[in-house]
Amino acid sequence: MKSNMMIALLLAIVLSMAACGSQMTDVQEPTQAPQATVDPAEETAQIEEETEHMTTEEKPTDVGAFDLERGTVLLNSGYEMPILGIGCFQLSNTQAENSVYWALRDGYRLIDTARIYGNEEGVGRGIRRAIDEGFVTREEIFVTTKMWTSDFDNGEQAIQASLARLGLDYIDLMILHHSQPHNDVQAYQAMEKAVEEGKLRSIGLSNYYEPEDFDRLVNATSIVPALLQNETHPYHQSTEMKEHIAQYGTVMESWFPLGGRGNTQVLFNDDTISAIAASHGKTPAQVILRWHLQAGNIAIPGSSNEDHIAENFAIFDFTLSEDEMAQMTALDRDERFADY
Ligand code: NAD
Repeated sequence: MKSNMMIALLLAIVLSMAACGSQMTDVQEPTQAPQATVDPAEETAQIEEETEHMTTEEKPTDVGAFDLERGTVLLNSGYEMPILGIGCFQLSNTQAENSVYWALRDGYRLIDTARIYGNEEGVGRGIRRAIDEGFVTREEIFVTTKMWTSDFDNGEQAIQASLARLGLDYIDLMILHHSQPHNDVQAYQAMEKAVEEGKLRSIGLSNYYEPEDFDRLVNATSIVPALLQNETHPYHQSTEMKEHIAQYGTVMESWFPLGGRGNTQVLFNDDTISAIAASHGKTPAQVILRWHLQAGNIAIPGSSNEDHIAENFAIFDFTLSEDEMAQMTALDRDERFADY
């Protein structure tokens, strides 16, 4: 087994042991991401020391297991991440500011943006408005942004620029936006350095669709990706990749969770999804999002519509049965809506 896989597993075991046997009190001080270059024994001692103050009530202990009560998952980096968030693709700065503000007011704690969306400033403004109005604290929010491919040769500057545009001291999760074999390792290493410097907390990948491509990056780097963000929805369930990355304690996050702009009606009008929605008195969007969470996909539906943002978060008051989950699983046809 690869050394960084072993370390991810070791981290999971140590977190479980620490949670069972210690008097932990603070959820906001997670452990550092695993580093293949560190001696595992030293790392174990360090993790035990750092997790000693946490309580089992406050923090889940199973890396990668979704906690639908808390609405979070424990990443292999040791940080707890919300499993439902607001996506900001194709939003202007003003729309992003409002969407983020409404989302945080409604209870969302996860925000997904990217340098290429051109709205990191708006996202930062929305976060500050919500904090200023007392809805949330910075520590309660989990902000994701992405490094664009043309920045891969200048990762350090790209990270600094995203921090500045967001107006944040640290970013909870930064991911490489697309696989780009000639220089993505170098870009990832820039993110690893930023983790050491405390500028990034967790790091991961987006748009790696082949297990071999994911392994190529993992084998050339030290910190195991916390997350992979790929197009994932009922017609493209990403089952093979999800199983593959689970070996590393890496979780799947769905982009286009509702099929993406211009495609949502295809999923909303699907007979199976409509029938399940009618039987629960929920909308098709809510059923699809609930399916994502129960299937173990973090979901980040995008919207600039205040009502849709509230609707998409109202999915913690019902459960899809095993039979309904099986019906949803049967919809998979390995069909992507995007061509990138
Ligand atoms: P999505 O599947 O979330 O669909 C968005 C569309 O659904 C919009 O047209 C929106 O108006 C509509 N919608 C949202 N809620 C609705 C509701 N309750 N009822 C009816 N319509 C509703 O697609 P998306 O926003 O493109 O993807 C989600 C997020 O994933 C993005 O915002 C972005 O943050 C991220 N993303 C990442 C990548 C990547 O390459 N990593 C690519 C695309 C998107």
